[in-house]
Amino acid sequence: MQEQPVIIVGAGPSGLATAACLKLQSIPYIILEREDCFASLWKKYAYDRLHLHLDKQFCVLPHMPFPDSYPRFISKEQFISYLDDYVSYFEISPLYRRCVVLAKFDEASKKWIVKARNLSSGEVEEFTGRFLAVASGETSNPYKPEIEGLNTFPGNVLHSTQFRNGKAFRDHNVLVVGSGNSGMEIALDLANHGAKTSIVVRSPVHILSKGMVYLGLILLKYIPVNMVDSLMVMLSKLVYGDLTKYGITRPKQGPFFMKVAYGKYPVFDVGTHNKIKSRKIQVLPAISSIRDNEVVFENGKTHSFDAIVLCTGFKRSTNIWLEGDDYLLNDDGIPKPSFPNHWKGKNGLYCVGLSRRGLYGASADAENIANDINSLL
Ligand SMILES: Cc1cc2nc3c(=O)[nH]c(=O)nc-3n(C[C@H](O)[C@H](O)[C@H](O)COP(=O)(O)OP(=O)(O)OC[C@H]3O[C@@H](n4cnc5c(N)ncnc54)[C@H](O)[C@@H]3O)c2cc1C
Repeated sequence: MQEQPVIIVGAGPSGLATAACLKLQSIPYIILEREDCFASLWKKYAYDRLHLHLDKQFCVLPHMPFPDSYPRFISKEQFISYLDDYVSYFEISPLYRRCVVLAKFDEASKKWIVKARNLSSGEVEEFTGRFLAVASGETSNPYKPEIEGLNTFPGNVLHSTQFRNGKAFRDHNVLVVGSGNSGMEIALDLANHGAKTSIVVRSPVHILSKGMVYLGLILLKYIPVNMVDSLMVMLSKLVYGDLTKYGITRPKQGPFFMKVAYGKYPVFDVGTHNKIKSRKIQVLPAISSIRDNEVVFENGKTHSFDAIVLCTGFKRSTNIWLEGDDYLLNDDGIPKPSFPNHWKGKNGLYCVGLSRRGLYGASADAENIANDINSLL
Protein backbone atom coordinates (compact mmCIF):
# COMPACT_ATOMS: atom_id res chain seq x y z
CA MET A 1 0.00 0.00 0.00
CA GLN A 2 1.28 3.48 -0.90
CA GLU A 3 -0.07 6.75 0.44
CA GLN A 4 0.15 10.30 -0.94
CA PRO A 5 -2.15 13.29 -0.34
CA VAL A 6 -3.27 13.33 -3.99
CA ILE A 7 -3.78 10.45 -6.40
CA ILE A 8 -4.08 11.39 -10.07
CA VAL A 9 -5.47 8.83 -12.50
CA GLY A 10 -4.07 9.32 -16.00
CA ALA A 11 -0.88 10.87 -17.35
CA GLY A 12 -2.32 12.63 -20.37
CA PRO A 13 -2.07 16.42 -20.67
CA SER A 14 -4.74 16.82 -17.94
CA GLY A 15 -2.89 14.66 -15.41
CA LEU A 16 0.43 16.33 -16.24
CA ALA A 17 -1.09 19.81 -15.88
CA THR A 18 -2.55 18.85 -12.48
CA ALA A 19 0.82 17.44 -11.39
CA ALA A 20 2.63 20.64 -12.40
CA CYS A 21 0.15 22.86 -10.53
CA LEU A 22 0.44 20.69 -7.40
CA LYS A 23 4.23 20.70 -7.63
CA LEU A 24 4.29 24.50 -7.69
CA GLN A 25 2.32 24.46 -4.43
CA SER A 26 4.63 21.77 -2.97
CA ILE A 27 1.77 19.27 -2.67
CA PRO A 28 2.92 15.64 -3.06
CA TYR A 29 1.00 13.43 -5.45
CA ILE A 30 1.21 10.17 -7.34
CA ILE A 31 0.09 9.58 -10.95
CA LEU A 32 -1.18 6.17 -12.00
CA GLU A 33 -1.06 5.55 -15.75
CA ARG A 34 -2.07 2.31 -17.47
CA GLU A 35 0.22 2.83 -20.49
CA ASP A 36 4.04 2.71 -20.53
CA CYS A 37 4.38 6.43 -21.32
CA PHE A 38 2.72 9.77 -20.65
CA ALA A 39 0.43 11.39 -23.26
CA SER A 40 -0.18 7.99 -24.84
CA LEU A 41 -3.01 9.34 -26.99
CA TRP A 42 -0.51 11.62 -28.71
CA LYS A 43 2.49 9.30 -28.68
CA LYS A 44 0.86 5.98 -29.59
CA TYR A 45 -2.71 6.46 -30.75
CA ALA A 46 -2.82 9.41 -33.15
CA TYR A 47 -2.32 9.57 -36.92
CA ASP A 48 0.89 11.07 -38.33
CA ARG A 49 -0.48 14.23 -39.94
CA LEU A 50 -2.38 15.37 -36.82
CA HIS A 51 -2.02 19.01 -35.80
CA LEU A 52 -3.77 20.62 -32.86
CA HIS A 53 -7.15 21.78 -34.11
CA LEU A 54 -7.10 24.94 -32.08
CA ASP A 55 -4.74 27.89 -32.11
CA LYS A 56 -1.82 27.35 -29.70
CA GLN A 57 -3.08 30.01 -27.28
CA PHE A 58 -6.00 27.66 -26.47
CA CYS A 59 -3.81 24.56 -26.02
CA VAL A 60 -0.99 25.63 -23.72
CA LEU A 61 -0.70 23.93 -20.33
CA PRO A 62 -0.33 25.95 -17.13
CA HIS A 63 2.97 27.59 -16.20
CA MET A 64 4.94 26.82 -19.37
CA PRO A 65 4.45 28.67 -22.68
CA PHE A 66 5.03 27.00 -26.03
CA PRO A 67 8.41 27.85 -27.60
CA ASP A 68 8.22 31.11 -29.62
CA SER A 69 9.26 29.22 -32.74
CA TYR A 70 6.06 27.14 -32.73
CA PRO A 71 3.48 27.92 -35.44
CA ARG A 72 -0.14 28.80 -34.58
CA PHE A 73 -1.32 25.26 -35.24
CA ILE A 74 1.12 22.88 -33.61
CA SER A 75 1.97 19.47 -35.04
CA LYS A 76 1.66 16.28 -33.04
CA GLU A 77 5.48 16.03 -32.85
CA GLN A 78 5.81 19.59 -31.57
CA PHE A 79 3.13 19.00 -28.95
CA ILE A 80 4.86 15.81 -27.79
CA SER A 81 8.20 17.63 -27.61
CA TYR A 82 6.57 20.37 -25.51
CA LEU A 83 5.10 17.71 -23.19
CA ASP A 84 8.53 16.05 -22.88
CA ASP A 85 9.95 19.40 -21.71
CA TYR A 86 6.96 19.93 -19.42
CA VAL A 87 7.48 16.57 -17.71
CA SER A 88 11.23 17.19 -17.28
CA TYR A 89 10.79 20.73 -16.00
CA PHE A 90 8.17 19.81 -13.40
CA GLU A 91 9.94 16.50 -12.60
CA ILE A 92 6.81 14.45 -13.16
CA SER A 93 7.30 10.68 -12.75
CA PRO A 94 4.08 8.74 -13.27
CA LEU A 95 3.81 5.14 -12.15
CA TYR A 96 3.36 3.40 -15.49
CA ARG A 97 1.50 0.23 -16.39
CA ARG A 98 -0.88 0.75 -13.48
CA CYS A 99 -4.45 0.33 -14.71
CA VAL A 100 -6.88 1.64 -12.12
CA VAL A 101 -9.62 -0.93 -11.57
CA LEU A 102 -11.36 0.58 -8.55
CA ALA A 103 -11.51 3.89 -6.69
CA LYS A 104 -13.83 4.45 -3.75
CA PHE A 105 -14.05 6.73 -0.75
CA ASP A 106 -13.58 5.03 2.60
CA GLU A 107 -15.78 6.73 5.19
CA ALA A 108 -13.84 5.28 8.12
CA SER A 109 -10.44 6.64 7.14
CA LYS A 110 -11.86 9.60 5.12
CA LYS A 111 -9.53 8.62 2.32
CA TRP A 112 -9.76 7.40 -1.25
CA ILE A 113 -8.73 3.81 -1.80
CA VAL A 114 -7.51 3.20 -5.32
CA LYS A 115 -6.72 -0.25 -6.67
CA ALA A 116 -4.59 -0.57 -9.77
CA ARG A 117 -3.51 -3.63 -11.66
CA ASN A 118 0.24 -3.67 -12.21
CA LEU A 119 0.30 -4.72 -15.87
CA SER A 120 3.87 -5.99 -15.53
CA SER A 121 3.41 -8.24 -12.51
CA GLY A 122 -0.35 -8.83 -12.81
CA GLU A 123 -0.81 -7.95 -9.14
CA VAL A 124 -3.40 -5.50 -7.85
CA GLU A 125 -1.74 -2.73 -5.85
CA GLU A 126 -3.48 -0.40 -3.42
CA PHE A 127 -2.98 3.35 -3.07
CA THR A 128 -4.63 5.73 -0.62
CA GLY A 129 -4.98 9.48 -0.65
CA ARG A 130 -7.10 12.26 0.76
CA PHE A 131 -7.76 13.63 -2.73
CA LEU A 132 -8.49 11.90 -6.03
CA ALA A 133 -8.08 13.72 -9.36
CA VAL A 134 -9.69 11.86 -12.25
CA ALA A 135 -7.69 12.68 -15.39
CA SER A 136 -8.45 9.56 -17.38
CA GLY A 137 -9.55 11.49 -20.46
CA GLU A 138 -12.59 11.91 -22.65
CA THR A 139 -11.03 9.52 -25.14
CA SER A 140 -10.05 6.65 -22.82
CA ASN A 141 -11.49 3.70 -24.65
CA PRO A 142 -11.92 3.45 -28.44
CA TYR A 143 -15.57 2.86 -29.36
CA LYS A 144 -16.42 0.38 -32.10
CA PRO A 145 -20.13 0.25 -33.00
CA GLU A 146 -22.06 -2.97 -33.56
CA ILE A 147 -22.56 -3.27 -37.32
CA GLU A 148 -24.50 -6.24 -38.64
CA GLY A 149 -22.13 -8.56 -40.47
CA LEU A 150 -18.92 -6.69 -39.63
CA ASN A 151 -17.44 -9.99 -38.43
CA THR A 152 -17.83 -11.40 -41.96
CA PHE A 153 -15.71 -8.61 -43.50
CA PRO A 154 -12.49 -10.27 -44.67
CA GLY A 155 -10.37 -7.10 -44.96
CA ASN A 156 -8.55 -4.97 -42.45
CA VAL A 157 -10.83 -3.25 -39.90
CA LEU A 158 -9.10 -0.70 -37.71
CA HIS A 159 -10.07 2.04 -35.29
CA SER A 160 -8.79 5.57 -35.89
CA THR A 161 -6.38 5.09 -32.97
CA GLN A 162 -4.63 2.36 -34.99
CA PHE A 163 -4.34 4.41 -38.19
CA ARG A 164 -1.00 6.13 -38.82
CA ASN A 165 -1.12 7.09 -42.50
CA GLY A 166 -2.55 5.98 -45.84
CA LYS A 167 0.68 4.56 -47.35
CA ALA A 168 -0.36 0.95 -47.11
CA PHE A 169 -3.77 1.64 -48.71
CA ARG A 170 -2.72 2.91 -52.15
CA ASP A 171 -5.27 1.75 -54.78
CA HIS A 172 -7.33 0.02 -52.09
CA ASN A 173 -11.03 0.69 -51.67
CA VAL A 174 -11.25 2.08 -48.17
CA LEU A 175 -14.36 3.03 -46.21
CA VAL A 176 -14.00 5.56 -43.39
CA VAL A 177 -16.90 5.31 -40.93
CA GLY A 178 -17.55 8.55 -39.03
CA SER A 179 -17.33 12.17 -40.05
CA GLY A 180 -15.83 13.89 -37.03
CA ASN A 181 -12.43 15.52 -37.27
CA SER A 182 -10.51 12.23 -37.21
CA GLY A 183 -12.73 10.68 -39.89
CA MET A 184 -12.52 13.68 -42.21
CA GLU A 185 -8.74 14.00 -41.85
CA ILE A 186 -8.05 10.28 -42.17
CA ALA A 187 -10.19 10.24 -45.35
CA LEU A 188 -8.06 13.09 -46.69
CA ASP A 189 -4.86 11.25 -45.83
CA LEU A 190 -6.11 8.10 -47.55
CA ALA A 191 -7.09 10.05 -50.68
CA ASN A 192 -3.70 11.81 -50.70
CA HIS A 193 -2.01 8.41 -50.60
CA GLY A 194 -3.99 7.16 -53.58
CA ALA A 195 -6.65 5.10 -51.84
CA LYS A 196 -10.12 5.01 -53.39
CA THR A 197 -11.74 6.64 -50.42
CA SER A 198 -15.34 6.79 -49.21
CA ILE A 199 -16.64 8.26 -45.99
CA VAL A 200 -19.88 7.59 -44.14
CA VAL A 201 -21.56 10.86 -43.13
CA ARG A 202 -24.68 9.89 -41.19
CA SER A 203 -25.75 13.22 -39.70
CA PRO A 204 -25.48 16.89 -40.66
CA VAL A 205 -22.08 18.50 -39.91
CA HIS A 206 -20.71 22.02 -39.65
CA ILE A 207 -17.55 22.52 -41.66
CA LEU A 208 -15.46 25.48 -40.54
CA SER A 209 -11.87 26.55 -41.15
CA LYS A 210 -9.44 26.79 -38.23
CA GLY A 211 -9.40 30.56 -38.76
CA MET A 212 -13.20 30.77 -38.43
CA VAL A 213 -13.10 28.80 -35.18
CA TYR A 214 -10.36 31.07 -33.86
CA LEU A 215 -12.48 34.13 -34.69
CA GLY A 216 -15.51 32.50 -33.07
CA LEU A 217 -13.63 31.71 -29.86
CA ILE A 218 -12.44 35.30 -29.57
CA LEU A 219 -15.91 36.73 -30.30
CA LEU A 220 -17.53 34.43 -27.73
CA LYS A 221 -15.81 36.49 -25.04
CA TYR A 222 -17.85 39.52 -26.10
CA ILE A 223 -21.07 38.47 -27.83
CA PRO A 224 -23.72 35.75 -27.26
CA VAL A 225 -23.28 32.29 -28.71
CA ASN A 226 -26.28 32.54 -31.09
CA MET A 227 -24.78 35.61 -32.76
CA VAL A 228 -21.36 33.97 -33.08
CA ASP A 229 -23.03 30.86 -34.49
CA SER A 230 -24.94 32.91 -37.10
CA LEU A 231 -21.68 34.49 -38.22
CA MET A 232 -19.94 31.06 -38.37
CA VAL A 233 -22.72 29.59 -40.53
CA MET A 234 -22.65 32.63 -42.81
CA LEU A 235 -18.87 32.34 -43.26
CA SER A 236 -19.12 28.59 -43.80
CA LYS A 237 -21.76 29.10 -46.51
CA LEU A 238 -19.57 31.73 -48.18
CA VAL A 239 -16.41 29.60 -48.17
CA TYR A 240 -17.75 26.07 -48.57
CA GLY A 241 -21.14 26.69 -50.24
CA ASP A 242 -23.93 24.15 -50.28
CA LEU A 243 -22.57 20.60 -50.07
CA THR A 244 -25.98 18.88 -50.15
CA LYS A 245 -25.42 17.39 -53.59
CA TYR A 246 -22.22 15.78 -52.28
CA GLY A 247 -24.10 14.20 -49.36
CA ILE A 248 -23.33 16.73 -46.62
CA THR A 249 -25.93 18.97 -44.97
CA ARG A 250 -25.64 21.61 -42.22
CA PRO A 251 -27.24 21.07 -38.79
CA LYS A 252 -30.08 23.40 -37.80
CA GLN A 253 -28.33 24.30 -34.55
CA GLY A 254 -25.16 26.41 -34.53
CA PRO A 255 -21.62 24.97 -34.19
CA PHE A 256 -20.70 26.48 -30.82
CA PHE A 257 -24.14 25.72 -29.36
CA MET A 258 -23.73 22.08 -30.43
CA LYS A 259 -20.25 21.93 -28.97
CA VAL A 260 -21.47 23.06 -25.56
CA ALA A 261 -24.80 21.18 -25.60
CA TYR A 262 -23.68 17.82 -27.01
CA GLY A 263 -19.87 17.97 -27.05
CA LYS A 264 -20.01 17.68 -30.85
CA TYR A 265 -17.12 19.53 -32.47
CA PRO A 266 -17.54 21.18 -35.87
CA VAL A 267 -15.30 19.73 -38.56
CA PHE A 268 -12.15 21.83 -38.95
CA ASP A 269 -11.51 21.66 -42.66
CA VAL A 270 -7.94 20.72 -43.55
CA GLY A 271 -8.61 20.04 -47.23
CA THR A 272 -11.20 17.26 -47.14
CA HIS A 273 -13.96 19.47 -48.52
CA ASN A 274 -12.01 20.05 -51.77
CA LYS A 275 -11.48 16.32 -52.17
CA ILE A 276 -15.21 15.75 -51.66
CA LYS A 277 -16.08 18.40 -54.24
CA SER A 278 -13.64 16.90 -56.74
CA ARG A 279 -15.17 13.45 -56.00
CA LYS A 280 -11.80 12.10 -54.83
CA ILE A 281 -13.67 11.25 -51.64
CA GLN A 282 -17.14 9.77 -51.99
CA VAL A 283 -19.70 10.54 -49.29
CA LEU A 284 -22.03 7.67 -48.36
CA PRO A 285 -25.01 7.42 -45.96
CA ALA A 286 -25.26 5.19 -42.88
CA ILE A 287 -24.38 1.51 -43.14
CA SER A 288 -27.23 -1.03 -42.99
CA SER A 289 -25.18 -4.20 -42.98
CA ILE A 290 -22.02 -5.90 -44.23
CA ARG A 291 -21.66 -9.21 -45.99
CA ASP A 292 -18.12 -10.25 -46.82
CA ASN A 293 -16.56 -7.38 -48.79
CA GLU A 294 -19.95 -5.88 -49.65
CA VAL A 295 -21.27 -3.02 -47.55
CA VAL A 296 -24.98 -2.21 -47.87
CA PHE A 297 -25.97 1.42 -47.21
CA GLU A 298 -29.25 2.92 -46.05
CA ASN A 299 -30.03 4.14 -49.56
CA GLY A 300 -30.09 0.50 -50.64
CA LYS A 301 -26.85 0.71 -52.62
CA THR A 302 -23.97 -1.70 -52.16
CA HIS A 303 -20.24 -1.02 -52.49
CA SER A 304 -17.26 -3.30 -52.11
CA PHE A 305 -14.30 -2.42 -49.85
CA ASP A 306 -10.87 -3.79 -48.97
CA ALA A 307 -10.53 -2.03 -45.61
CA ILE A 308 -12.64 -0.16 -43.07
CA VAL A 309 -11.40 2.56 -40.73
CA LEU A 310 -13.75 3.13 -37.78
CA CYS A 311 -13.56 6.79 -36.74
CA THR A 312 -16.42 6.23 -34.36
CA GLY A 313 -15.09 7.94 -31.28
CA PHE A 314 -14.46 6.94 -27.72
CA LYS A 315 -16.01 6.07 -24.39
CA ARG A 316 -14.78 7.20 -21.01
CA SER A 317 -13.33 4.66 -18.54
CA THR A 318 -14.68 6.00 -15.23
CA ASN A 319 -17.91 3.95 -15.20
CA ILE A 320 -15.68 0.87 -15.01
CA TRP A 321 -13.63 1.81 -11.95
CA LEU A 322 -14.96 4.89 -10.10
CA GLU A 323 -17.54 4.34 -7.36
CA GLY A 324 -19.91 6.84 -5.73
CA ASP A 325 -19.52 9.51 -8.43
CA ASP A 326 -23.11 9.36 -9.78
CA TYR A 327 -23.85 12.93 -8.73
CA LEU A 328 -20.71 14.24 -10.51
CA LEU A 329 -20.23 12.13 -13.65
CA ASN A 330 -22.93 10.66 -15.86
CA ASP A 331 -22.90 7.05 -17.13
CA ASP A 332 -20.69 8.18 -19.98
CA GLY A 333 -18.12 9.81 -17.67
CA ILE A 334 -19.03 13.41 -18.49
CA PRO A 335 -19.59 15.89 -15.60
CA LYS A 336 -23.24 16.47 -14.69
CA PRO A 337 -22.80 19.96 -13.13
CA SER A 338 -22.49 22.52 -15.85
CA PHE A 339 -19.45 24.73 -16.41
CA PRO A 340 -17.88 26.27 -14.31
CA ASN A 341 -18.98 23.93 -11.47
CA HIS A 342 -18.00 20.66 -13.14
CA TRP A 343 -14.54 19.98 -11.69
CA LYS A 344 -15.19 19.44 -7.99
CA GLY A 345 -17.05 16.62 -6.28
CA LYS A 346 -17.42 15.55 -2.67
CA ASN A 347 -14.85 14.09 -0.26
CA GLY A 348 -11.87 15.39 -2.19
CA LEU A 349 -12.94 14.08 -5.59
CA TYR A 350 -12.03 16.14 -8.66
CA CYS A 351 -12.17 15.70 -12.40
CA VAL A 352 -9.89 17.37 -14.89
CA GLY A 353 -10.26 17.55 -18.65
CA LEU A 354 -13.66 15.86 -18.80
CA SER A 355 -15.87 18.87 -19.54
CA ARG A 356 -15.47 18.81 -23.34
CA ARG A 357 -13.44 21.99 -23.31
CA GLY A 358 -10.24 20.52 -24.70
CA LEU A 359 -6.79 21.40 -23.43
CA TYR A 360 -7.94 24.91 -22.54
CA GLY A 361 -10.57 23.53 -20.17
CA ALA A 362 -8.15 20.94 -18.76
CA SER A 363 -5.61 23.64 -17.87
CA ALA A 364 -8.23 25.68 -16.02
CA ASP A 365 -9.44 22.56 -14.16
CA ALA A 366 -5.86 21.69 -13.13
CA GLU A 367 -5.25 25.15 -11.67
CA ASN A 368 -8.60 25.16 -9.85
CA ILE A 369 -7.95 21.73 -8.37
CA ALA A 370 -4.44 22.54 -7.10
CA ASN A 371 -5.64 25.82 -5.57
CA ASP A 372 -8.58 24.07 -3.92
CA ILE A 373 -6.43 21.28 -2.48
CA ASN A 374 -3.93 23.85 -1.24
CA SER A 375 -6.67 25.78 0.55
CA LEU A 376 -7.98 22.58 2.16
CA LEU A 377 -4.55 21.48 3.30
C1 LIG B 1 -7.18 12.84 -32.77
C2 LIG B 1 -7.42 13.80 -31.65
C3 LIG B 1 -7.09 15.15 -31.78
C4 LIG B 1 -7.31 16.06 -30.78
N1 LIG B 1 -6.97 17.38 -30.94
C5 LIG B 1 -7.20 18.27 -29.94
C6 LIG B 1 -6.85 19.65 -30.09
O1 LIG B 1 -6.35 20.07 -31.12
N2 LIG B 1 -7.08 20.51 -29.06
C7 LIG B 1 -7.63 20.08 -27.90
O2 LIG B 1 -7.80 20.89 -26.99
N3 LIG B 1 -7.98 18.77 -27.74
C8 LIG B 1 -7.79 17.87 -28.72
N4 LIG B 1 -8.15 16.55 -28.57
C9 LIG B 1 -8.81 16.13 -27.36
C10 LIG B 1 -7.79 15.41 -26.49
O3 LIG B 1 -8.46 14.35 -25.92
C11 LIG B 1 -7.19 16.34 -25.45
O4 LIG B 1 -6.62 17.41 -26.01
C12 LIG B 1 -6.13 15.73 -24.54
O5 LIG B 1 -5.41 14.62 -25.02
C13 LIG B 1 -6.87 15.39 -23.34
O6 LIG B 1 -5.95 15.09 -22.35
P1 LIG B 1 -6.39 14.19 -21.13
O7 LIG B 1 -5.20 14.06 -20.28
O8 LIG B 1 -7.64 14.73 -20.53
O9 LIG B 1 -6.81 12.81 -21.80
P2 LIG B 1 -5.86 11.70 -22.52
O10 LIG B 1 -4.85 12.36 -23.37
O11 LIG B 1 -6.81 10.75 -23.11
O12 LIG B 1 -5.12 11.05 -21.27
C14 LIG B 1 -5.81 10.24 -20.33
C15 LIG B 1 -4.83 9.22 -19.79
O13 LIG B 1 -5.49 8.45 -18.80
C16 LIG B 1 -5.09 7.10 -18.93
N5 LIG B 1 -6.12 6.24 -18.34
C17 LIG B 1 -7.41 6.08 -18.75
N6 LIG B 1 -8.04 5.19 -17.96
C18 LIG B 1 -7.12 4.77 -17.06
C19 LIG B 1 -7.17 3.84 -15.96
N7 LIG B 1 -8.28 3.17 -15.66
N8 LIG B 1 -6.05 3.67 -15.23
C20 LIG B 1 -4.92 4.36 -15.50
N9 LIG B 1 -4.81 5.23 -16.52
C21 LIG B 1 -5.91 5.44 -17.29
C22 LIG B 1 -4.94 6.90 -20.43
O14 LIG B 1 -4.09 5.82 -20.73
C23 LIG B 1 -4.36 8.25 -20.86
O15 LIG B 1 -2.95 8.24 -20.90
C24 LIG B 1 -7.91 15.62 -29.57
C25 LIG B 1 -8.24 14.27 -29.43
C26 LIG B 1 -8.01 13.37 -30.44
C27 LIG B 1 -8.41 11.92 -30.26
